[in-house]
Amino acid sequence: GVSLNRAVVRHLSKLIGMPIRADAYSPLHGAIGAAARLIQENKLDNPISVRRPIELFRPSKETRTYYYPPLESSRSGAPDFQPSENYLYRSARADFQPEVEVERFESLPAGESTEVYLGLDIGSTSTKAVLTGPGKKAIAGFYTRTAGRPLQAVQALLEAMDDLARNQGTAFQVLGAGTTGSGRTFIGRIIGADLIIDEITAHARAAVELNPAVDTIIEIGGQDSKFTTLHQGLVTFSTMNAVCAAGTGSFIEEQASRLGCPLNEYSRRAEGIRAPLASDRCTVFMERDLNHYLSKGYGVDEILAAVLHAVRDNYLSKVAVTSRVGTCVSFQGATGRNRALVAAFEQKLGQPIFVSPYCHLTGALGTAFTLEESGPVRSTFRGIALYRQAVPIETEVCEYCTNHCKIKFARLAGETVAYGFLCGRDYQTREFVNKNRSGFDLLRERAKAFRFKPETPAGGLTIGLPAALHLFEDLPFWEKFFDLLELKTRTSEDCRDAVLRGKSLAGAEFCAPIAALHGHVAWLVHRCDRIFLPIYLEARDKPPGQIRKYCYYTQYAPALVSRMEETVRRMCLVPLLEPRAGVFAELRQLYQALKPIKPDLTF
Ligand code: SF4
Repeated sequence: GVSLNRAVVRHLSKLIGMPIRADAYSPLHGAIGAAARLIQENKLDNPISVRRPIELFRPSKETRTYYYPPLESSRSGAPDFQPSENYLYRSARADFQPEVEVERFESLPAGESTEVYLGLDIGSTSTKAVLTGPGKKAIAGFYTRTAGRPLQAVQALLEAMDDLARNQGTAFQVLGAGTTGSGRTFIGRIIGADLIIDEITAHARAAVELNPAVDTIIEIGGQDSKFTTLHQGLVTFSTMNAVCAAGTGSFIEEQASRLGCPLNEYSRRAEGIRAPLASDRCTVFMERDLNHYLSKGYGVDEILAAVLHAVRDNYLSKVAVTSRVGTCVSFQGATGRNRALVAAFEQKLGQPIFVSPYCHLTGALGTAFTLEESGPVRSTFRGIALYRQAVPIETEVCEYCTNHCKIKFARLAGETVAYGFLCGRDYQTREFVNKNRSGFDLLRERAKAFRFKPETPAGGLTIGLPAALHLFEDLPFWEKFFDLLELKTRTSEDCRDAVLRGKSLAGAEFCAPIAALHGHVAWLVHRCDRIFLPIYLEARDKPPGQIRKYCYYTQYAPALVSRMEETVRRMCLVPLLEPRAGVFAELRQLYQALKPIKPDLTF
C-alpha cells in the first residue's frame, strides 16, 4: 500500500539513484502474482488466457445493503435561498484571497444614505456580516471564509459593503456595530464595537425573532456545533461539541472534497438517496467505514448521504440532549443550506425542522437585532472605511506566569488593542491578575476536599500515577487505595510539559491527550519504582443501562505507552478494570497486577 504514496516512492528513488515503477496495481502484486502462477501452471478446470493484469479483475457480485431510506424532506419546507440579488465579490486586498458572497435582501434608496446596524460573526471557519435596517429588517448579508485571518476577513466584508453601497448609489450610515463568534473580542476591540456578545445569545436572539415558537436550536457550524433550548424566548440550556470535529460542517466539507463533490452540489446529490450505515463515533471510524463502502462499490452519492447520517447521529448522541428536543426546532449555521442534512435530522427526529433563509447568518443577525434593541448609542464603531487601513497584528508570549499566553495586539489611532489573556490582566498591567473576584475557587476547593495525609511510612516502593487522560479524575481514589495497601504514590501533576515531551516520544502522530499521557509516564520513570496504568474500557459514571465506551486510543493507551521503551514496559502495572465484568473480576485483576510487588497481598 505504501507504494501508492508518491512522496515515499520519490524519496526511495532518490536514495537508490534510479526510477521506481509503481502503479495502481502495486499493492496487489502479490495477489496478481499468485493468480498468474495459477494460470501459468494450467491447473484450472477451465483454462483462461490473460494478457494484462486488468483482465484478472472481475466485478464484485457482492450485493449492497442499505440501512437508511432515501433522504427526503417532506415536512420541513426549506426556503429557496433566493435573495433579491447575490454575487461573489473579490476583495482588492493582496493578503486575502477568499471571495465574499454578497446577498442583498432589500432594495436600497439611491441618492440617500441608509441607516443600518452592523452585526459581525467571526467564526473559526467563516466570517459573516449582516446589515439590518430599523425595524429588524435584514438588508444585506456577507459571507466569507476566515482562512485563519479574521481581521482580513472582516476587512474584506467591509470592503464588499462599501462596494454594494456604491453600486446601489447609497451610503451606509452605521448606527451601531456588534460582534459575536470566537473572534468577537479581538475584532470587536479593533473595529470599536458597541456590543460584544457570545454566539449562544446571538443565535437565540435571531431564532426567536425569525420564528417566535422556536424552543430548540440545532446549530452546526464549521468547527463547532451547539445545541440550545429556549423557553419563551430565553435560553434555558446550551451545550457544544468537545474537540471532536465529527459532528461539524468541516467533516462534511472534508468528505465532499475527498469525494470530488462541490459543496453547492452536495445537497442535490444526496437528496433522495439511500445510504449504508457508517459509524458515528469519531472521524477516524467514520472515514474508515466510508472507505470500506467505497471499496465495496457503493456510489459516491450514497457515500455522501451516509456522511450526513453519520454527522447527524454523532451530533444527536454527542452534542444534543435528545430528551430535551422540543416541538419547534430551528436549524442554524451554514450547514442549514444543505437540504439533505436537514432531511436527515427530520428523518431521525420525526418532526419538521424550521430553516430560515438567513440560517447561515443567524449569529450576525442576532447581534444586529440585539444592537437595535439596546436603544440609541453614540457608536464607537471606527467605520466601514476601516478596510482601507493597514492594521498589522503582532504577537508576543506573556511570561508573567506558566500559562505563557500568546497575546495578539494591534496599534490603532495611538491605542493598543490586545487579546489572548487567560487571566484578568490587560496590556498595560504587568502581572497575573486573577479573574475570579468572587473569592471562591472551585478547583482549589476540589483539591482541598480530596486532600488526605498519606499514612504509609517512608521506605518501600513508590507507585507512579500518571495525571493524564481518564486517570486524572481518579487520582485521589488511587492515592487512597495504595495508601491503604501501605504503598507510597507519586502523581505526575507537577509535569508541566507533558504534551511536548510526549510528542517527541510517542513515535506516531497522536492526539494531544494521548501525547500527554506519554509525557506524564516518561516524567514518572525516574521518580518512582512502578507505574500504575490500568486499562479502562468504559466510563463508570454513566446513566443506568447505558454504555459509555472510551475511545479506541484511550482503551489501549497502556499498550501504546508501554511501547515507548523496555524500562517503561517493565515498570507498568496494567490491570484490566472493567466494571461490567463485576467486582470480583476487577479485584482479581488488581491482585494479579500487584501481587508481584506486594507478596503479602491476599485475595
Ligand atoms: S496573560 Fe495572565 S494567565 Fe496568561 S501568561 Fe500572562 S499572567 Fe499568565
